[in-house]
Amino acid sequence: MTLRLYNTLTRRKDALEELPGFDPNNVRMYVCGPTVYDYAHIGNARPVIVFDVLYRLLKHLYEKDGGKVTYVRNITDIDDKINARAAETAAAKGIPVEQARAEITAATAQQYMDDVAALGCLPPDETPRATEYVGQMIAMIERLVAAGNAYVAEGHVLFDVSSKSDYGKLARRSLDEMMAGARVEVAPYKKNPMDFVLWKPSDATTPGWPSPWGRGRPGWHIECSAMGEALLGETFDIHGGGIDLMFPHHENEIAQSESVHHGHPLARIWMHNGFLQVEGEKMAKSLGNFITIRDLLKDWPGEVLRFNMLRTHYRQPIDWTEQSLQESERILARWRNRLLSAPAYDGCKVDMDEAFCAHLSDDLNTPAAISRLHELFNAGHWADTTAKANEQIGSFGFGNVPGVTGFIDESDVLVNKAKAVAALALIGIDPLVEREPPVAMEEIDAQVAARNAARKAKDFKEADRIRDELLAKGIVLKDGPAGTTWEVKR
Ligand code: AMP
Ligand code: ZN
Repeated sequence: MTLRLYNTLTRRKDALEELPGFDPNNVRMYVCGPTVYDYAHIGNARPVIVFDVLYRLLKHLYEKDGGKVTYVRNITDIDDKINARAAETAAAKGIPVEQARAEITAATAQQYMDDVAALGCLPPDETPRATEYVGQMIAMIERLVAAGNAYVAEGHVLFDVSSKSDYGKLARRSLDEMMAGARVEVAPYKKNPMDFVLWKPSDATTPGWPSPWGRGRPGWHIECSAMGEALLGETFDIHGGGIDLMFPHHENEIAQSESVHHGHPLARIWMHNGFLQVEGEKMAKSLGNFITIRDLLKDWPGEVLRFNMLRTHYRQPIDWTEQSLQESERILARWRNRLLSAPAYDGCKVDMDEAFCAHLSDDLNTPAAISRLHELFNAGHWADTTAKANEQIGSFGFGNVPGVTGFIDESDVLVNKAKAVAALALIGIDPLVEREPPVAMEEIDAQVAARNAARKAKDFKEADRIRDELLAKGIVLKDGPAGTTWEVKR
C-alpha cells in the first residue's frame, strides 16, 4: 500500500516512501501542540484527531515488520499569552509570576491531555514542554549567530531573513504578501521588517531564563526547531499543524533548522489541516460560538465528536454543526446495533480491508474510507441472517462447511463484521464499547419497576418524581408500546 500525502512544500501528493532518505524502520512525525493557558476549543481538536489517525495508519503500515514510528507533539508553555495570564493571576493571588506561570501551564496541559484522550487519541511517544528545552534553544540560537544567520540588537536576537535565500519557499508568497499577511512587527532594531525574534529580554514581572544575551525568553518558532532536533534529529518525515501555522511559524522553523543543519531539509512532508468553523461562522469568543472540547464532551460521547471530525477531509474547511453531530451519532448507533446483532466472530481472522486502507493511504481520505464502511455495513444481510448463522456456526464452526447452501451470506456477515471492526479501530473508533451509564443498571431497573407500579396505581405524581430523579442523574426514560426503555442523556 503506497502512502501518499499532500505536501504543502511541493503542492502535490508525494509518496512518502519515494522521498530521499525515508527509512521505513524509523518513521518520525512532529505536530505543533497547544499553547497552554486556557481550555482547548474544538478547532484545536482537529489537528489532534487528524494526526492521530495518521499516527495509527503509520503504525499499521510500518510497525508490522518491526519498524518504529515516533510521534512528537509539543506543549508550548512559554508564550506571551501565557505570560499575560500569569501576570493577572500573580497579581490576584499575590504569588510570584513564575509560580503562576507554572501552575497555569501544568493545569491546562493536564486538561488538554484528558480532553484529547476522551476523543480517542493515543498519547504521542513524546510530549516535550518548551520549558524543558530552553538550553537546546539557546544552543541553537548561538549556532545561528555564529553562522551569520542571526544578530543581536538591543537585548534581542533576531533571525536575518536575508541570510536564507529560499526564505518563503513553504508559503510561496512574495515578501510584500508575507509582510501584509503576518502583520509584521516593525521595530527599530530590526534590519529587515521580516526578521523574526529568536530571543527577547524579560523584565522582572515576566518569566525569563539566563542566557548569553541576558535574562529573557525564546521566541515561539525556535521552541519547535529545538524540540524537533532534540527528539527527532535533523531531518524527519512529517511535520504537521493547522493551516494558520504555515506562515510564519513553519516557514520560520524551516529557516532556523535548515540554517543550522547545513541546508538539510527539516521535514520531508509538510501537512496542514483546514480550519473549523461553527454553524457557518468563524469561531470567536466575541461571536459567542466558541466551543471548548470540555463543554462538547458534556453533551456528546468522544467518539461521536471524533467521527464527526473525520467525515470531512482534513484539508477542507469543516462546518461544525449540531445537525451533523446528530447524523454522526445516528450512523455510529446503527453500526453498533448491526455489530451487536451479528454473530460472534471469534476465530474469524481477516486482514485489514484493502479498499478502506487504500482510501486512508490516499492523503487520509477519511470521507471515502467512511463510505467504504457504509458499504461493509450494508452488505451481507446483517440483521436477518443472524439467527441462522448462529445456528450453523454453532454446529460446524466458522469456515468448516463448504458447500452448505445459504451459508455464504452468513460468513459474509462475519467477514464484514471483522473487517468493519478492524477498519474502525484504525481510525480510533470502537463502536462495541458501550458507554457506561452514569447510574448502576440495577438502580435504573429498580426505579423503572417502581415507576411502573406507581403508574399502575395511578400515582402519577410519584411516577413523575421517579422520572425526574433519573433525568437529574442523566438517564432519560422513554415510554413506548412495548414498555419503558431508557437511554443515557446526550
Ligand atoms: P494554538 O494552541 O492556537 O497554537 O493551536 C493549536 C493547534 O490548533 C494548531 O495546529 C492550530 O493550527 C490549530 N487550530 C487552531 N484553531 C483552529 C481551527 N479553528 N480549526 C482548525 N485548527 C485550528
Ligand atoms: Zn511548531
